[in-house]
Amino acid sequence: MAFPSDLEIARGAALKPIEDIASEMGLPNHLLEPYGRDVMKVNLDAIEELAEAPKAKYVVVSAITPTPLGEGKTTTTVGLGQGFKHIGKRATVAIRQPSMGPTFGIKGGAAGGGYSQVVPMELLNLHLTGDMHAVTAAHNLLAAIIDNHLFQGNERGLDPHNITWRRVLDVNDRALRNIVVGLGGRGDGVPRQTGFDITAASEVMAALALTTSLEDLRARLGRIVVGYGKDGSPVTASELNAAGSMAVLLREAIKPNLLQTLENTPVLVHAGPFGNIATGNSSVVADRIGVHAGDFLITEAGFGADMGAERFFNIKCRNSALSPDAAVVVATVRALKAHSGKYRIVAGKPLPPELLQENPDDVAAGAANLRKQVENIRLHGVSPVVAVNAFPDDFASEHDAIRQIAAELGARVAVCTNFAEGGRGAAELAEAVAEAVEEPTNFRFLYPDEASLREKIETVATKVYGAGNVQYSPQAAQQLDTYERAGFGRLPVCIAKTHLSISSDPKLKGAPTGWTLPVREVRASVGAGFVYPICGDMRTMPGLGTSPAAFRIDLDEHGEVVGLS
Ligand code: ADP
Ligand code: MG
Repeated sequence: MAFPSDLEIARGAALKPIEDIASEMGLPNHLLEPYGRDVMKVNLDAIEELAEAPKAKYVVVSAITPTPLGEGKTTTTVGLGQGFKHIGKRATVAIRQPSMGPTFGIKGGAAGGGYSQVVPMELLNLHLTGDMHAVTAAHNLLAAIIDNHLFQGNERGLDPHNITWRRVLDVNDRALRNIVVGLGGRGDGVPRQTGFDITAASEVMAALALTTSLEDLRARLGRIVVGYGKDGSPVTASELNAAGSMAVLLREAIKPNLLQTLENTPVLVHAGPFGNIATGNSSVVADRIGVHAGDFLITEAGFGADMGAERFFNIKCRNSALSPDAAVVVATVRALKAHSGKYRIVAGKPLPPELLQENPDDVAAGAANLRKQVENIRLHGVSPVVAVNAFPDDFASEHDAIRQIAAELGARVAVCTNFAEGGRGAAELAEAVAEAVEEPTNFRFLYPDEASLREKIETVATKVYGAGNVQYSPQAAQQLDTYERAGFGRLPVCIAKTHLSISSDPKLKGAPTGWTLPVREVRASVGAGFVYPICGDMRTMPGLGTSPAAFRIDLDEHGEVVGLS
């Protein structure tokens, strides 16, 4: 019999009443706000009310450099939560909210997979409690206020050619990348070119993920730089009187959403910032609640450890003041083989058949990437655990090859079969993580706040990516100088580069060294609280492919969703 689809498995789930899940976390009723039958929002007062509860061990799940397919970080994060339950520990899982762009584009659902999923997966993948739309509304309100400011006489002297604030929508729509607004007559506004990004790329989303309270969020929104005056000075959202209204629109969205796994482990789903131009991590507030709600809090950081985990350590933990106790590095046989440099994997295309043949030598040939990503965890003083996410076409000899590499690194390792088996299949990983968190940690940031932006960029580039040096375009150099003068130099950096290589060249596999990181441009998300140098082409509004998932998603005769993978 064929393995059932994610949606078929999710349909068969025996959900527990969500109140019971909350009460297992120690969340009293007055902090819960039901959204339908199976989802609740958790009031932020929970941060203070749970503060006296014992602190959970805090575990981040990251990975080797992924292929375009996704290597199963979410599946492993969810599986680890289920695995802890299997060995008698209380764990909470924290993940990002999926964007509907990829859901209807290439990826399908993003609730984990197989027997390690967050349910109800249709709700998780589609709208959930509307947080994405609230972010969209707040973002676009600011855009409307900017264009109205120009129309009403432009008292602040905004340079219409230097407005950096665009509009957002949670859909993959390349036709919106570049648009002209204000067409028509005099009464229809001031014509200018602008464009749309996907909501996940909104600075409002990045701020929501890093904020610690509603008051703090309002302050961050006020600090957003929307563009520059004709005199070159930064113009903020608070100067345009937008921050209050934006914060009002986000009053509900700031509360994390509580769902559960197929095995009734609590899951906090909250915020979904992009993984290249933003942190790619779920929210600080969800983690601050979850970290007092059981024995373990497991959170996922997007992309490879050079990307999501580096931002988790240096940006998210700097904002949350939480320090991690262990980090999981997910590896798969197929991705390690791909890192041997012998195979080409293209999103939306079938895997090359040779990739699926037994070949432990190719696994070993791709090990450089795993070694470097484990080192990247250790650079931050955190103990790594390698999780091998087993696929049905893997061979035991190939798993052994990964165990061997981990042993050479002195890292704990576990083979996970939770996709096929649920929590039972992640019990070995849960045991390994439970051991790792008992090791003394010496968590440290890679750079202090006081380092210059250039020092911060160079530290991440050389230590984490393995670059030999960094080269700045004249424009980037000038922007860095401007930001230092404007006082943004204390912010951490979020380096926007490809996630498909540890370098800035997606074609380079393994762990190349000695290359040059080219910084083309530097932008500042002052409201969210980081500066992001751009290395390479970053798409902030994806498009749809020739056969998007949207062609297959539909309703059946009972009005149920079908086609979400
Ligand atoms: P990531 O979070 O790293 O992007 P996901 O957990 O979303 O990865 O998994 C990516 C895709 O791979 C999903 O469609 C998921 O169902 C599938 N997948 C993950 N692990 C396995 C596995 N062990 N066997 C088969 N398919 C898997
Ligand atoms: Mg994921």
